[in-house]
Amino acid sequence: MKQGSISIVGAGPGDPELITVKALRRIQTADVILYDRLVNEELLAYGRKEALRIYCGKAPGQHSMPQEGIERLMIKHASAGSHVVRLKGGDPFVFGRGGEEALASAAAGIPYEVIPGITSAIGAAASAGIPLTHRGLAASFAIVTGSRCHDHAAPVRWDALAHSVDTLVIYMGVSHLGGIREQLLKHGKDAATPVALIENGTTARERTVTGTLGNIDKLATAMKISNPALIIIGEAVKVREQLLALENAARSQIG
Ligand code: SAH
Repeated sequence: MKQGSISIVGAGPGDPELITVKALRRIQTADVILYDRLVNEELLAYGRKEALRIYCGKAPGQHSMPQEGIERLMIKHASAGSHVVRLKGGDPFVFGRGGEEALASAAAGIPYEVIPGITSAIGAAASAGIPLTHRGLAASFAIVTGSRCHDHAAPVRWDALAHSVDTLVIYMGVSHLGGIREQLLKHGKDAATPVALIENGTTARERTVTGTLGNIDKLATAMKISNPALIIIGEAVKVREQLLALENAARSQIG
């Protein structure tokens, strides 16, 4: 029997062109593709006609397939000799439970590999014109979960983050914006710190709104920002405003 394998693959942040060549090649040769909600479905068209495509997405607050079920399915198909591609939004090791899937593959003795993807922080920041580091404005950034239920054993250290990191990129945070704002203000972050919210980053439906730490939850509600969205907090957000102002000035000169 053919030896099966598992590729844990990052699909990139949303724009289907932002996938790696290696990831695309694995999709093209897969027997089984297990894909998540945030994967751009256009990418599935690159798979072989006869490849089995299985949706494993979890809508927020709902669990269409429990994590253990996904891991069992992945191992079942690979054990039967299939090449399984576990396709995940962004990068598999950034809030993607890719680590757990790698552990499950290794424990089952199945050959596996992990193919990185552009995580949504990197993709969305580029698309919105926000350099996560910028000379004179930001020398460090951190990727943080805003979801309190994400990991009770390792709570987010808002106290340390408020002081020691220049740009904060918060995943899964839009529905907890009030709490995040409170935490950061409590630990001394300036209410005037620039903030951006990016919804559906890198896709045709991308929307970005900017404000300050002090007013961002009201802005998010007013603009009806919903998932998937990222929060970027820090002085580097100002570069977006500078870029837009320069682009407008250049346009009005030409016009
Ligand atoms: N592994 C993924 C993250 C999964 S967690 C990655 O590396 O990007 C899911 C969270 O990612 C969402 O709640 C949202 O905060 C963020 N996210 C994913 N895709 C996004 C997109 N296109 N635009 C904005 N945020 C996105």
